[in-house]
Amino acid sequence: MTAAELPTAKACDLTVVWAYRRTGKFAFHVLTGALESAPDVAHVPITFGNGVEAVCAAIDDAQRRGCRVLVGWSFYSPDFAEMTNELRAVRARTSSHGVLHVVGGVHASAEPLQTLRAGFDLVAIGEGEMLVREIVRAILRSESPRGLEGTAWLDGDDAKSAPMKRNGKAARVQLDDFPPCAPAHRRHGPIEITRGCIYACRFCQTPFFAGANFRHRSVENVREWVRYFVSCNFRDYRFLTPTSMSYGTHTEQPDLAVVEALLATVRGEIGPARKLWFGTFPSEVRPEHVSHEALRLLSRYVDNRSLILGGQSGSDAMLAHSKRGHDVAAIERGAALCVEHGFVPHVDFLFGMPGETADDVQQTLQLMDRLVAQGARVHGHTFLPLPGTPFRRAAPGALTPELRQHLVRLASQGSVYGQWEQQETTAKEMAARREA
Ligand code: SF4
Repeated sequence: MTAAELPTAKACDLTVVWAYRRTGKFAFHVLTGALESAPDVAHVPITFGNGVEAVCAAIDDAQRRGCRVLVGWSFYSPDFAEMTNELRAVRARTSSHGVLHVVGGVHASAEPLQTLRAGFDLVAIGEGEMLVREIVRAILRSESPRGLEGTAWLDGDDAKSAPMKRNGKAARVQLDDFPPCAPAHRRHGPIEITRGCIYACRFCQTPFFAGANFRHRSVENVREWVRYFVSCNFRDYRFLTPTSMSYGTHTEQPDLAVVEALLATVRGEIGPARKLWFGTFPSEVRPEHVSHEALRLLSRYVDNRSLILGGQSGSDAMLAHSKRGHDVAAIERGAALCVEHGFVPHVDFLFGMPGETADDVQQTLQLMDRLVAQGARVHGHTFLPLPGTPFRRAAPGALTPELRQHLVRLASQGSVYGQWEQQETTAKEMAARREA
């Protein structure tokens, strides 16, 4: 869509419709919060359309009211095929007049050309908080958002052949400058306390999307948002971070004084009856950050009795190859300490990483057995060659028959859980799409 194709402003200037799905919902809450908190765009109505029917109905309704429509999409790489099918279905059933389909998130940022060829009008590259405001402002001025910093688009009508143009990447934000949720729309989620990650594991999209450094929300800012959640009578308090015990630090060394300041503040605000979850879903703890001191600290403040540890492999060679930054001994030591302090360690594993040999698989099987014998649970995943990562061109993760049997046996004891079968299929699909 060009500026000339945009209808001129009417009584209703613009409606935002989120193509809102479960997997990306917290990203939409943060984007909604970014719009709500900017006085010049806070008036723009926002609809959360869950599924094709709802998105079509929201577009039809906005068009009946004479509004232009920004349809916002965001999804993870495994959902690319499903979401582009949904886009096609929405396009087939709605008028395109005054409608702009904009997509952001980790997948679109890593693969803008593929995403544009799938039928989106505009890709928002990088973090969305500032850019979504700028896109809305441009549309309200009846200007095309193409060319804004952090956008990519096709220069021509033929989605198969038109060349892509892009203008850089959206500015990275400071978390304190934006709400972690959307109070006016009553859309909430875990409070994001840290964005970006210094570890840059080679299979992970986080550092390649959000930067290989930490940006932390301040304790005082967290306190304000916790107070707001308390005023809404929320019972559970969860936090979003790539590595829980890295809160407040900028190095590999945890700063437990800052972690304690955070947890003490949150506990002070929520009181003893509400639940504080930390080092568990939706975040995890790096194994080498588990220490007596760290566990004593957690025991004082948190309600969870399990911790999620990132283990990934039982082979030191694979841990080094994926740049995990810890060894197998750290995983075993971390899990043992958790058990000693009364926490059940749930250890993440990644099967079928690039270059994994039969010997590496054996070592992983043996480590899983040792951890389970200690009282840990294993959370199994199959390696996905994620766009934007150093391993993006690697072969899709595949399970050996021996590993599959082993997982079935551990699963029957309730010691392992996960979606490794489904992820194996997804990994193949992603690799096939990449080669197409
Ligand atoms: S896997 Fe965890 S520690 Fe490694 S880069 Fe990703 S978020 Fe950081």
